[in-house]
This record gives sequence, structure tokens and C-alpha cells, in this order.
Amino acid sequence: MSLGEFDIIRRYFSDIGFAAEIDSAAATSNAQQHAIELGVGDDCAILQLPPGERLALSIDTLVADVHFPATATAFDIATRALATAVSDLAAMGARPLAFTLALTLPQPDELWLLDFSDGLRESAARYRVALIGGDTTRGPLTITVQVHGSLRTGGLRRSGAQVGDGVFVSGTLGDAAAALAVLQGRLSAQPEQAHFLHERFYRPTARVVLGEALLGVATAAIDISDGLLADLGHVLRASAVGAECVLSRLPMSEALLAVTTREQAQQWAQSGGDDYELCFTAPLSAREHLRELAEMLDVPITEIGLITEGDALLCRDASGAIVTPAQSGYQHFSGAAH
Ligand code: ADP
Ligand code: MG
Repeated sequence: MSLGEFDIIRRYFSDIGFAAEIDSAAATSNAQQHAIELGVGDDCAILQLPPGERLALSIDTLVADVHFPATATAFDIATRALATAVSDLAAMGARPLAFTLALTLPQPDELWLLDFSDGLRESAARYRVALIGGDTTRGPLTITVQVHGSLRTGGLRRSGAQVGDGVFVSGTLGDAAAALAVLQGRLSAQPEQAHFLHERFYRPTARVVLGEALLGVATAAIDISDGLLADLGHVLRASAVGAECVLSRLPMSEALLAVTTREQAQQWAQSGGDDYELCFTAPLSAREHLRELAEMLDVPITEIGLITEGDALLCRDASGAIVTPAQSGYQHFSGAAH
């Protein structure tokens, strides 16, 4: 980008998420601080991990009007972009260290950049992750975030689910789908619920602490970006197992149940995407431990099903009857493919 590319980088992207703006009491900020040998400004950033730790990395691209409404504020776009990227680290049980940012902008707009970097700064502090490099180009608004995290084990892979394991989810499901309906004017909501849903969409909680706590407990995990049934399907395929789920058990927020019918809410909970909660499997013997973990971390954990032999995903209603979910994938913002 010709107009002040280096000014843009220096002004808006050179000091995001570094320890000075993170409270020093946090153990994770120490890990992060020690890992980053070199940040923004050279040809490469350099990370150094303690011996025995693995580097986990994941990259995600958000395109205007596909992954977020083009009318979204720069702040909201930034917080969502970083939280959704960090969510992949959480789903692996990795501890966030750093991220890189490839930013494509139609034109350099100082106000937009200021708002965007403020959002990134807030999200970077929340997840204790530092911006260590990137690329800045001109073109249709596109944001690519690559996250880097450390893992002290082989991580929570999709392939480890065992027959007889329970299926669990964190938090509540369906909020982001409802938020999208409100944003698109398909659903009306009272200000309080509209605010709650807006936050769930633009500032989803990447379950980093839970993910790390599940190392050695969960047998498989995934973050719910495409919808519970679609994402659980990925785990089942990778693990070569089936599952039975009880749809009436899916955890839903009060706000979701207040803005729509129970039927629609459950439909969004099972198939809406973008909630970025974790879906994981664990031996039923871990139930008590998971209950304690949920309490300690203040994150709801709900048992929703059981891993079975075969490859089918069977859904049951509250009475135990088998139901066929109408739609198992996630509808994108504009209906475009992922
Ligand atoms: P190069 O030509 O080596 O790719 P650039 O001119 O693209 O270098 O970038 C200069 C420095 O600024 C590099 O350290 C790069 O990582 C960093 N950088 C560029 N764009 C961004 C951005 N949007 N956010 C953070 N760092 C960036
Ligand atoms: Mg470059």
C-alpha cells in the first residue's frame, strides 16, 4: 500500500498485546513474553518455545459481507477476527502466544484503522496474545489472522473420541445465529437481549482456559464454528465412530429463549454456527472432574450425548424418539460457502 504503509504499521500495529498493557500478575503473559524473541518490524518475527513445547498454529480469513456484515464497525470486526482465530488454539488445548495479521483495505482510512487497532488491542489483552507481524495491502476488505500457541502435549485432536465417551459442550449454543438474524433485521429483540447477542457474535469467548484444562481429560475436541452437528460430525469422521445426541439437552441462553420460539432456538443451537464454544468427548468417568472444572472456571459444561460404534450421528428428542434435524450445516452471512 503506497500511502504511508509503514506509518500505518508503526501507528496502529506495532505494540498490540505486549506485556506492558497486560497485567503483570498473569502467568500466561510471562510465557508469552519469553516466547517472543522478535516482533513487528523485521523480515520475520521469531518465537522461542521452552524445550519440549510444540508450536500450534492456525489461520483464518474473514471477508467483508461473507463472514461479517460490511456495515460492522472496525472495532467489532477486529475483536471477532482475533477471538475466532484464538478459538482454534483453545480447541487444541494450546496456550495463545502471538498472532500475525494480513490486512487488505480498500483505502487507508485513519478513523477505521484507529477503531480496528483499538478492537485488536482489547482482544489481544483479553487473550494475552501479541501481534508480532503481518502484511498490509490494498483491495477489498479482508482480514487474515494467524495465531501461534504453545502445547505441552500432542493436543486435543479431533481423532481421539472413543466408543462409550460422553459428548460435552461448553457455554450456550445458538446465540450467534440469533444475533445474525437480529443484525439482518429478520428478528427483533429488546435492547438488553440485542446487546447480549451482539456481544456473543462480535466478541465470542474463545475457551482458552477450558481447552488447556481439558488436556489429558478430553479425548477429542473441536470449536463450534459451523454448527454443533456439522462440527461434531468432523470429530466422528476423524475418530471413525458414531454418536447419539439428545437435542433437548443443548444449552441455550435466556436471551436466545426470550427472542424466539423454543423450536427455532433449538434449531439454531444444533445447526447455527459462530458460537465458538467447545464440543469435546471424554470418558464418562471424567464427569465429576468436569463438574468441578465447570464450577472452578465458571464455564457451563453440558453432557449432550454418547459416542457409539459405527459412523452415524443419531439425534433424539426429549422422549427418546429419533429425529432428523432439518439442516445440519451453517448458513453463512451471505449464504456463500466457507
Ligand atoms: P516485507 O516486505 O519483509 O514483507 P513489510 O513491508 O510487509 O515487510 O512489513 C514490514 C514489517 O511490518 C514486517 O515486520 C511485518 O511483519 C510488519 N507488518 C506489516 N503489516 C502488518 C500488520 N498489518 N500488522 C502487523 N505487522 C505488520
Ligand atoms: Mg510484506
